Amino acid sequence: MTTAVRSPEVAVRSQAFIAGQWVAADGGGTFAVTNPATDEVLAHVPNCGAPETRRAIAAAHSALPAWRSRPAQERAAILRTWAQLMLRDRERLARILTLEQGKPITEARVEIAYAASFLDWYADEARRVYGETIPSSAADKRLLVLPRPIGVVAAITPWNFPSAMITRKTAAALAAGCTQVVKPAEDTPLSALALAELSVEAGVPAGVFNVVTGAPEAIAGELFANPLVRKVSFTGSTEIGRLLVKASATNLTRLSLELGGHAPFLVFADSDLDRAVDGAIASKFRNAGQTCVCANRIYVEESIREAFVAKLAAKTAALVVGDGLDEATQIGPLINDDAVTKVMGHVDDARAKGGRVVTGGARATVAGRAARFVAPTIIDAARDEMRCASEETFGPVAPIFSFASEAEVIERANATPYGLAAYCFTRDGARIMRMAESLEYGIVGINDAIPATAQAPFGGVKHSGYGKEGGHHGIEEYLVRTYVSWRL
Ligand code: NAP
Repeated sequence: MTTAVRSPEVAVRSQAFIAGQWVAADGGGTFAVTNPATDEVLAHVPNCGAPETRRAIAAAHSALPAWRSRPAQERAAILRTWAQLMLRDRERLARILTLEQGKPITEARVEIAYAASFLDWYADEARRVYGETIPSSAADKRLLVLPRPIGVVAAITPWNFPSAMITRKTAAALAAGCTQVVKPAEDTPLSALALAELSVEAGVPAGVFNVVTGAPEAIAGELFANPLVRKVSFTGSTEIGRLLVKASATNLTRLSLELGGHAPFLVFADSDLDRAVDGAIASKFRNAGQTCVCANRIYVEESIREAFVAKLAAKTAALVVGDGLDEATQIGPLINDDAVTKVMGHVDDARAKGGRVVTGGARATVAGRAARFVAPTIIDAARDEMRCASEETFGPVAPIFSFASEAEVIERANATPYGLAAYCFTRDGARIMRMAESLEYGIVGINDAIPATAQAPFGGVKHSGYGKEGGHHGIEEYLVRTYVSWRL
C-alpha cells in the first residue's frame, strides 16, 4: 500500500516488508508517523511485534543458503544497482527523509548520496573477502582459514540518519553473504520502507532484506531470543546499548554497538581561524546538532577565544531556521518535544551557572508556529560543571570553553566516558600527531569537521560502543573465520 504525502509529490510505502511481501501487523495495529516541523501525520505504519519479527527471521533464514552461495560478483551487481537506484530517486528519497525527520532538504540529499555510497563501496568489498593459507609444520598437512558469512543478522537503527544508518549495516551484511532483518526507529520508518521498495527493483531476492516496523521491546525481544539471529548491529543511545548487551547473553548473539558521543572540538591559537569557525558550524549545526559525532564541547585557546567567538556568533546568527522542505533552511526542527525540553534545559542550566548566551538561547518561531525549532545558540564562558559539558545535548547549542595549554585540553577532552569523535584544529604538524595519539576517540578529525566516509572505519571506544562500520573493517563484523586443518 502506498500513501500519498503532500500529493502528488511524494508517495511513501506504509507497510512492513517481510519475505518480499508488503504486510500489515497481525492485529492490524498501526502507529502514526508525523512531520516534526508541522505535526502533519504522514502515514500510519504497522505496529509489528514478536510474531511478525519471527516470520521475518524465518524468511531471512530461508533465503540465506541461496544468497550466501551466490558468486560475490552477483551480490556485488545487485548492491551496485541498488545504489544507482537510490541516486536515480535521490530527490524523492530526500523529501521522504526531510518530511519524517525534519533535516534541511539540502542535508537530506547529502544523506541519500552518503547512504548509496555504502551500497556502492560494499559492492566492491564483496569481491575482496579473502581467506588465508598458513604454513604448516607437518609435510602432510595444509592449514586454511575460510571466511564465511555469520548468517542471519539484524539491525536496529536510530532516527537521526534514517537512510544512511541502515545502508551502512545492510551493505556490509549483504556483501558478506548474510541476510538481514531491519528495525527502523518509530519516528522514521518511511525511509527504511522506501529502501525496501528499491531493493526489489535492484533484484535483492525475497527474504534477504526485511523491514519490521513497530515497538522496539517486542521486536528486539524476539531478535535476541531467536537463536537463528547470529548478530545484531545497533546504532542508538548508550543506555539502550547497555540493555542489548544484557539481552545478547541468552544466545551469545554477536553485537556491534554504535552509541552516543560527546565530541570535543579543539581550536589552537595556531589554527586557521576561518577554517576552524566553518568547521565548528558544520560539525555543530548539521541536522540541528542531532548527530552522534557533533561537537558537544568547543575548547578554544584563550588568546584567540574572543576573536573565535565573535566570528562563530556572527555566522551562527545568520543561519536560517525553518521547515526542512524550504530550500533556504539550514536548521530544521528537533525530532520531538522531549528533545526540545532537554536542549532548552542545557541552555537554562548553562545560563544559571554563569554561561553567556552570545546568540540564540531560545526557541524559534517558524511560520507563526513555535513547534520544535530551537535557535542556533552560542554560549561563551562555559564551565566543566554545566550539564552540556558531560551530557549529550543533541541540539543546536555550542558551548565555548577556554584552555591555556595542550596538556590541559587533552586531559579535559578525554574526561568523559564517551569516545566516538574528536576534532582538532591546528597547523602544527608535531601537535597533530600528538593529538591523534592522545585523544581517546575512535575518530579524530584534524582540521576536518566531517570525517565520515564509506571507505573508512567509523566507530567508537569506551561508552560509545564497539565494532566498526565502513571500510574493509566493516565487512569483518559480518564474517566468521573457520580454521580448516587438512591432513592430506
Ligand atoms: P535510541 O533511543 O537508543 O533508539 C535507537 C534505536 O533503538 C531505535 O530504533 C529505537 O526504537 C530502538 N530502541 C529503543 N528502545 C529499545 C529497546 N528497549 N530495545 C531495543 N531497541 C530499542 O536512540 P535515538 O534517540 O533513536 O538516537 C539517538 C542516539 O543515537 C544518540 O545517543 C546518538 O549519539 C546515537 N547515534 C549514534 C551513532 C553512531 O554511529 N555511533 C549514529 C547515530 C546516532 P524506537 O525509535 O522505535 O523507539
